[in-house]
Amino acid sequence: MSKTKITVAYGDGIGPEIMKATLAVLNAAGAEIEPEIIEIGEKVYKKGVSTGIEAKAWDSLKETKVFLKAPITTPQGGGFKSLNVTTRKTLGLYANVRPCRAYHPFVKTHHPATDMVVIRENEEDLYAGIEYQQSPDVVQAIKLISRQGCERVVRYAFEYARAYGRRKVTCMTKDNIMKQADGLFRSVFNEIGKEYPEIEQNHIIIDIGSAIVADRPETLDVVVTLNLYGDIISDIAAQITGSVGLGGSSNIGENYAMFEAIHGSAPDIAGKGIANPSGLLNAAIMMLVHIGQGEAAAKIQNAWLKTLEDGVHTGDIYKDGFSKTKAGTQAFAEAVIARLGQQPVDLQAVSYQSHLQKQKMPKTSKPRPGKSLAGVDVFVDWNKGTNDPNELAELVQAVASDDFEHKNIASRGVIVYPNGNPETFCADQWRLRYMAKETEASHQAVVRLLGALSDAGIDFVKTEHLYDFDGKRAYSLAQGE
Ligand code: NAD
Repeated sequence: MSKTKITVAYGDGIGPEIMKATLAVLNAAGAEIEPEIIEIGEKVYKKGVSTGIEAKAWDSLKETKVFLKAPITTPQGGGFKSLNVTTRKTLGLYANVRPCRAYHPFVKTHHPATDMVVIRENEEDLYAGIEYQQSPDVVQAIKLISRQGCERVVRYAFEYARAYGRRKVTCMTKDNIMKQADGLFRSVFNEIGKEYPEIEQNHIIIDIGSAIVADRPETLDVVVTLNLYGDIISDIAAQITGSVGLGGSSNIGENYAMFEAIHGSAPDIAGKGIANPSGLLNAAIMMLVHIGQGEAAAKIQNAWLKTLEDGVHTGDIYKDGFSKTKAGTQAFAEAVIARLGQQPVDLQAVSYQSHLQKQKMPKTSKPRPGKSLAGVDVFVDWNKGTNDPNELAELVQAVASDDFEHKNIASRGVIVYPNGNPETFCADQWRLRYMAKETEASHQAVVRLLGALSDAGIDFVKTEHLYDFDGKRAYSLAQGE
């Protein structure tokens, strides 16, 4: 077999120790890989590269398309960009996959039957960090969700379930509140789910879903969710299995993939030789499956499971009564190497036949719906001390428009004029809602309206068009509207 080139970064903190241990196990298992080393993280940030990764490192990634990455330290303070977010977005890594399995009775856990996988959308949502300050008192973060973003991750979750023989996919959203953003994710889940009738599927609201992850994780199998929710529940799921030091994750795109431990660079234990290399090793196992070396992956994972069974544990999971030998990073790797070829006795052994990399993800194509401009929301920065919406309404009503009728004013999503409740707190950013007098408005009409508001001294900070798609309202109503 010819060797597969992979890009490797040793990272910061405990990164170099756990990467050395991981690569030693991969080599001993006969993995056919040819690592190319790149530098990322603290040293690069300190050279003044705000992204933490230099241009020449991208060349390696673009060539190998596979990245095994140790954790890095993100410097505190402004100006630095998260390398993880940059890498995910630049390489189009749309799905983050985190298997969370308990290793009872060898690793202490309150949830011995846990064996779940969180698949999280990786590029969009509030996590994209698109934020604006609109007035002295109001900031806004945008939750941007695309149909394609939902389709790719949902389809990946079903394909993953199919490839790994998983029986159920659970979708978690908050579509009872975010009817459009989360509603889109859920409706895509329902649509694509129809193509996988053999897989059980359900939807749970994310708040109770998180409670179930913490309390009854054994009832879950594959969970697919939006970026921010996935970020939170995957940490809960990893923690309840015993230690953040155990979990690996993959970030999958159409052409690229990145594999890493779920934990950070653990500066508190760096250089001591005591870090658990299992998280990165599990990530490397996922990488081997991805590049079609499932046999080596299974060999390593079974040896690793046997090492856990034999009670050879690093300090983070060492417990009297559960563990037998306390091992440092290197000694733990050597214990795994010594067990290559062995199978676990009590824990379930693994085998990997299929991998998802070469599978073409079919795309759903839908005709673009008809779209008409029903109105416009104009957001304004206005503060007159009392913040009385009736005063603002007087100013606004004095602005004539042939095209639009001024309907109402809302503050923070609640109607405050007409018929507002005096108890409603009003910030200094307001939403003026205008509806078209005819069935449809034009861009020119919006420009005329903004011109008139500007002439009246009204400080507008943003507009949002109100569209109907295929004749259906596609914007939210304020509370009380
Ligand atoms: P952390 O995950 O590094 O550490 C949290 C705790 O878990 C620490 O007590 C640490 O000692 C322990 N721990 C983590 N990994 C371990 C291992 N393999 N073996 C034994 N114990 C382990 O989280 P943190 O302290 O919040 O972050 C430290 C740095 O890592 C920060 O600069 C943060 O930005 C960065 N970070 C990087 C990544 C990444 O590169 N993917 C992810 C998370 C955090």
